[in-house]
Amino acid sequence: MLTMQAMASPPTSAAAAGEKPANKPVKKAVKAKQDTPAMRQYKHFKQQHPGCVLFFRMGDFYEMFYEDAVLAHKAMGITLTQRTEGVPMAGVPYHSVEGYLRKMIQAGHRVAVCEQVEDAAQAKGVVKRDVTRVITPGTLTDESLLEEGAENPLAAIVYHHQEGSEGAQASLAWVELSTGAFNVATLDEAQAEDELARIAPSELLYCDTATGDAPMRIEHLKQQLGCSATGRPSWQFRIDEATDTLKAQYGVKQLSGFGFADDDPALTAAGAILQYLTETQRSGEEVSGTPKRLAHLRPPKRFARHEHLVIDQTSMRSLEIDRTLRTGQTEGALIGVFTGPSAPATAMGKRLLRQWLCYPLSDRGAIEQRQSVVQAMVDDSRFRRELRDAIDPVQDIERIAARLAVGRATPRDLVALGRSVAQARAVQDVLADRPNQSAYHDRAVELLKVLEPLAQTITDACIESPPAHLREGGLIADGHDAELDEARSLQRDSHAWLAQYQARLAEEHDLPHIKVGYNKVFGYYIELSAANKDKAPDSWSRKQTLKNAERFITQDLKEFEGKVLSAESRAVAREQALFAELCEQAANEMGSLHGFAHLVSELDVLGAFAERSTRARYVKPAIVDEPILQIEAGRHPVLDELLGDQFVPNDLVLGAGDLLLEKGNESDDQQSATSNQHPPSASLALITGPNMAGKSTYIRQAALITLLAHTGCFVPADSAIVGLTDRIFTRVGANDELHAGQSTFMVEMTETANICHHATERSLVILDEIGRGTSTLDGLSLAWAIAEHLAGNENKPGPRTLFATHYHEITTLAERLPSVTNLSVTVREWQDEIVFLHRIAPGAADRSYGIHVAKIAGLPDAVVTRANQLLADLAVSHESAKPKAATTAAPPPQLSLFTEYMPHPVMEKLSATDLNALSPIQAFDLIRQWRDELNEDNGS
Ligand code: ADP
Repeated sequence: MLTMQAMASPPTSAAAAGEKPANKPVKKAVKAKQDTPAMRQYKHFKQQHPGCVLFFRMGDFYEMFYEDAVLAHKAMGITLTQRTEGVPMAGVPYHSVEGYLRKMIQAGHRVAVCEQVEDAAQAKGVVKRDVTRVITPGTLTDESLLEEGAENPLAAIVYHHQEGSEGAQASLAWVELSTGAFNVATLDEAQAEDELARIAPSELLYCDTATGDAPMRIEHLKQQLGCSATGRPSWQFRIDEATDTLKAQYGVKQLSGFGFADDDPALTAAGAILQYLTETQRSGEEVSGTPKRLAHLRPPKRFARHEHLVIDQTSMRSLEIDRTLRTGQTEGALIGVFTGPSAPATAMGKRLLRQWLCYPLSDRGAIEQRQSVVQAMVDDSRFRRELRDAIDPVQDIERIAARLAVGRATPRDLVALGRSVAQARAVQDVLADRPNQSAYHDRAVELLKVLEPLAQTITDACIESPPAHLREGGLIADGHDAELDEARSLQRDSHAWLAQYQARLAEEHDLPHIKVGYNKVFGYYIELSAANKDKAPDSWSRKQTLKNAERFITQDLKEFEGKVLSAESRAVAREQALFAELCEQAANEMGSLHGFAHLVSELDVLGAFAERSTRARYVKPAIVDEPILQIEAGRHPVLDELLGDQFVPNDLVLGAGDLLLEKGNESDDQQSATSNQHPPSASLALITGPNMAGKSTYIRQAALITLLAHTGCFVPADSAIVGLTDRIFTRVGANDELHAGQSTFMVEMTETANICHHATERSLVILDEIGRGTSTLDGLSLAWAIAEHLAGNENKPGPRTLFATHYHEITTLAERLPSVTNLSVTVREWQDEIVFLHRIAPGAADRSYGIHVAKIAGLPDAVVTRANQLLADLAVSHESAKPKAATTAAPPPQLSLFTEYMPHPVMEKLSATDLNALSPIQAFDLIRQWRDELNEDNGS
């Protein structure tokens, strides 16, 4: 049941019931059952856009009816009223529609905006309307609907096999409509889903099922990605349809020019995306009459996974690269350290920064190229400052270009574009003075040839601060166009003419208080006060009677009105035509606009890297081919920022240890304790130490330094050598809560299985507390076996691995396996308290200090005391059972030894029993007694 709040005079009702609310009185008696022509129109468009909420323009409002009204009421908190009985209605004022659209999109809805496409005053019968835009979460282009520094990708996924099939593949396509970037890939299903996590789409398209329900795996993805999912008809995913759509879009006969065979399965997803885009962006073209064909959309590019360091979805989340696990915000995530003066200056730079952090490079040459620019800017602070000054005024030309391409650019967009591309000169000048920047300089010089004339054209034609829209003109500068100037001067002269006319009438008719005025509804008029109204000559016609005045019109004034009003509309029409011309001119330079956008955003991010590196004392890591990771005095980028001097830097040496000695000696004679005592080829470090000591921080820091090194950014350390890495794997506990519906242990094991299967010698693996989610013995055995597996052997070296664990027993592995080393976080005991030093030292920790940590966490004293007692008891039994393997490097310790617990009292009684002294009945009674004791202890 709906609860509707009937309003005495709802602000929407006038507009809803009639076409011209300002002129026509509202028709009171609308027949309940019969639809008005406007309502029939509404239903027609509603039917054409299933799944969309229809914003139906009526006068100064957008109205929603029936279920849409209820939905809008809930999503936007607007008043729900009734149009006629039983027809729920809600409306929003047209001038503030963007804010409401944003709310609808944020709530995951799709909206079709139906406009009046003819002047209501000229309309014969019902005003002509059409849907001019369909807005969905993934197809936004308007500035007001988009977040400035964040991308807003639309993705499509096509599974090529039934759910659960072995070795199944899936194709992905993703497009950033607001910039025109278009990518496709066919990958293993799991990889495809990993990539989706990295892409973080706002909307995901999938192939509709016969039942209309989304398949399970789509539901799962939707939940994981937190995006909206839209089912599309299956024919749109057919390969022949897809290739036809793509060929038509790019005006080509073959797709081979883009590197695709006609039957490439990846095209199915690309085709489906394109169909969706043409559908959602098409109506605007028809209305404006200029086919736009999404001209800014670049041809699909095949995503090459191997060109990037692969980060799967688990690692994406747990390394907190672009958002934190807990809050989902950038603050506290890796990207969050690039804020303030270290933030990119432009919105485009902010988006590219996320890209670069989520897609680090895997090619050494490409990384070093970025590093060389960062180095140049670190060395030369003037270069950095001048470059920032040059790109700071550049606005979001990527998105403006997209709006030009879909016909939604505003006068402000055009002027901002002109002003932005004019900066190409300044950018070129800054680069011209710098050695080793010829690649960027050459690009700037090329772009300048096109962009400078374009900037000039726009600047010459437009005023500096244009209006938000062109409804009343006001964009084109005086003196730019003769026709416009003429129409404008007519309007301007009208003031003088009116003043003269008023003076003439006053004198002629002896009416000193006569007034000649203008009103939007009634037009021009001569006004006499009620006292003087009889003095009006007969030639004047009465126009309007007010309480204290009478208004008239004369033939002269009527003619004048016609001239002025037509001049006004001529001026507006002329401005609109000139604006369209300028937009087209700009849109024709799409390639250069994109080129400049790329140039600016790349330099912007490199500048941010340099600024960050300078401010936070980052160093350039040496990138090498060997699978090593050697860090001297490394810091966690986020905690380093937060804790400042309080943060304790630490060393790390994984892989061929002598390398650091060699390279380190070149730059610095001081060798760290860790590297000196490290086995030369250990690839796996077991890190033990109390909770809260800094194990997680240390292993994450290694992963983040590796990642940063692959983006071309410098790293928080005194020196670093980073071997090229193909993937970063992580298994850390904090993720569990995110996997609804699966047990923590299952998630842990699934993720670890993935690591064991896919980690190569070139990977970096960080594992935090494996085996926690099961019994101690299970956990220990699993952790042990996993560590052994990842340690590899001579024939098959393992990945670089950092394995934080609270199972000290595993640390004996280092004695048997040369590829394993022990590290521990040092603590100092002081007056029964422990002090965390956060310093990593060689060797294993001797115990876990769990009870100390529990005490710090505020567990009641009685519980802590009892725990200490129990620990002492258990330690006695445990000590007697400890493996003796510690001093020998030979066979692996027998885990069964750990299972020898303190004997149960019943066992003691049994062994002390003298059987010869018992009768059968006494023996039976004793057995029953022991059984009862056992049952009691087991709680049954
Ligand atoms: P663990 O994994 O051993 O339980 P964490 O890595 O979560 O410990 O660290 C616990 C806290 O200790 C962190 O939140 C941080 O405040 C502090 N910490 C960790 N490493 C350092 C360090 N190197 N220098 C200073 N503080 C640190």
